[in-house]
Amino acid sequence: MSRNSVDDVVIFIESEMIGMRYLAEALSEGRRYLLEHESKGILDDWGLKTTGAYLARSEDEAADLARSVGYPVVLKVLSTQVVHKSDQGGVRLNLRDEPEVRKAYGEIAEAFRGSGLVGVSVQKMAAPGIEVIVGVTRDPTFGPMLMFGLGGIFVEVMKDVSFRSIPITLQDASDMVREIKGYPIIRGIRGISGDEEALQDLLMRVSALVEANLEIEEMDLNPVFLYQQGYTIVDARIMLGSAPRSPSAHKPAEGLRTLFYPRSVAVLGASNVKGKLGWNVFHNLLSHGFAGRLYPVNPRSAEVQGVKSYPSIKEVPVKVDVAIVLVPATATPQAIRDCCEAGIKYIIVESAGFAELGESGKKIEREMLSIAEAGGCRLLGPNCSGIINTHAGVVESIGVVDDLDPGKIGLIAQAGVYAAGYLWGMRRMVDFGAVATIGNKLDVNETDILETLGADDNIQVICMYIEDVKAGRRFLDVASRITPKKPVIVLKAGRTEAGIKAVSSHTASLAGNDQIYSAVFRQAGMIRARDNDHMFDLARAFASQPLPKGQGVFIVTYAGSLGVAAADGVSAGGMRLSELSGDLKERLIKILPAYVGGLNPVDYTFDQSPEQVKKTVEIGVESDDVGAFIVVLQTEILGTFFEALKSIDFRGKPVVAVAACKEFVLEDVIRFEKAKIPVYSTSERAAEVLAAMYHYSLWQKRAGR
Ligand code: ADP
Ligand code: MG
Repeated sequence: MSRNSVDDVVIFIESEMIGMRYLAEALSEGRRYLLEHESKGILDDWGLKTTGAYLARSEDEAADLARSVGYPVVLKVLSTQVVHKSDQGGVRLNLRDEPEVRKAYGEIAEAFRGSGLVGVSVQKMAAPGIEVIVGVTRDPTFGPMLMFGLGGIFVEVMKDVSFRSIPITLQDASDMVREIKGYPIIRGIRGISGDEEALQDLLMRVSALVEANLEIEEMDLNPVFLYQQGYTIVDARIMLGSAPRSPSAHKPAEGLRTLFYPRSVAVLGASNVKGKLGWNVFHNLLSHGFAGRLYPVNPRSAEVQGVKSYPSIKEVPVKVDVAIVLVPATATPQAIRDCCEAGIKYIIVESAGFAELGESGKKIEREMLSIAEAGGCRLLGPNCSGIINTHAGVVESIGVVDDLDPGKIGLIAQAGVYAAGYLWGMRRMVDFGAVATIGNKLDVNETDILETLGADDNIQVICMYIEDVKAGRRFLDVASRITPKKPVIVLKAGRTEAGIKAVSSHTASLAGNDQIYSAVFRQAGMIRARDNDHMFDLARAFASQPLPKGQGVFIVTYAGSLGVAAADGVSAGGMRLSELSGDLKERLIKILPAYVGGLNPVDYTFDQSPEQVKKTVEIGVESDDVGAFIVVLQTEILGTFFEALKSIDFRGKPVVAVAACKEFVLEDVIRFEKAKIPVYSTSERAAEVLAAMYHYSLWQKRAGR
């Protein structure tokens, strides 16, 4: 096929899909780079607006093309070896007539002879606009990612860009534009603004183009000129790769409910020897009121901890729902085979000594997986601590766990010791509903568990600790379906970049691993926690308090500085201080001692009494402008406020308490927490939690709840 030339301009006007022909051609030739005129051709085919670009291979052709596109024109070098055309003197702008075009052509041809010169592109000179950049890069976990930012120094220096996983929704497109710090420039300053609707259309079309042509690995549209009306793509570069493998067939997680609500559990390696894992796990199962049947499997004893035992899983007289495998790593494949032969569909391998130990362990894992797959069963672990479901008395932990009360929080963790630590440490303040440890996630992964807990009505708040994600887009899709119904709080460790990737596009160089995760969490409506404290700060409030009824926060305090800090936190979090209307204001003023000045925060100083707090809050409850409360209490006498706060009818509005240095009055704090009033040690943390709840309520509304 002939390359784009004068004749092709005519063909293009007849709107043949020239660009898509370029794409097919490049793919069949195994080429990675598409030149500017080819890239723009593809974009044109997808209804995107570009300046166009036409290939000239001689001065005469350049002159002809310039005449047909209309002056002024731009000439650019076309070469796969020249990445930054203008840096190397390969861009000539604003050429006004034929002599200028001929001269520019000659100079470019001369300068780049021997540098893979394919020709010179001729295009219309675009009117200046707001420079933005749109890009695509491929993330190893989440696949194609779309990027948006302001061009020029904003992207170079500030790296002020937003990402979303492709495909995006129109709402995502709007979020991407509004999320960058430079958004006010687009919204408009000094009478100049950018066409947001056109920009969203541009993002949607790029997303659709990539979704339909997954060989597109990277793309830089840099710059795009954004106008008051419309936009034009001025420079375009597309890079191809092989299309990513389609993600492995989605195994629906519905069946995994059995893992959480089994009717019978067998334990291979259950033991009578105290201190052994096989003792711990079986003891846990026996001692938490599990109503189903338990079958210890141990060839050396007739009973385990008083329960009749079986020499092999194959001799258990019923088909059990779940088998827990605790035998040494080398014996595990055989144990799995036995379970499969016994018709068991869910197997939990809690033993360690697999991939975490290197190649020999990995080999055993591969064997385990193929046995499980052939047997049609799902496998949790290895190297995990099983499941806890306090709603069904199921406790499979490798460490001994004492009494647990059922709760609303579901925790998904990789390692058992981590989960056990939090469960143990927090169980007097917070009740967990489910804890799932996924270990080496050979088969069942975080997304499977997320999907399962998402469908479990006993779980109202989901916390996840993750280090990486398998099958990223499915993770995003599953999370997106859950977050309109229940909050998902995610703590992602491993923020430091694992290494410098070899990148060829500008977009890829901006796509840090952590940014991509953040973008995906945002796209799915998940709440990202900074650290474990933050995650459980959030989880406690979400599990115990209703969502804010509005943006206004009413603060009652005993210390001016802590009130100011709360007010700062409120506005930093995108909420605001509430304001009482006339009559409520008067009622409040009437009860305030003379020395109390402000009406929000209301600062009672050290004289603050439980009655004052109660009366003040009750006035706030009546105000339509109050969406939530922060009550800052004097730590030394925290307990004296308990009854007053408990007796308030908040009418569905949330309250969070602050007690500085609460660590020193833990007994009081526990009383509050058990009564579902979360207590934070700083005003900022309390405000931050309320703000997260407020933004989550907006997300729910947006999702049409
Ligand atoms: P590169 O990014 O490879 O250096 P570009 O094609 O982006 O080359 O050109 C460099 C700059 O020249 C652009 O950032 C833009 O400001 C300007 N420019 C390029 N093409 C045009 C055009 N058709 N109309 C107006 N300005 C252009
Ligand atoms: Mg450019």
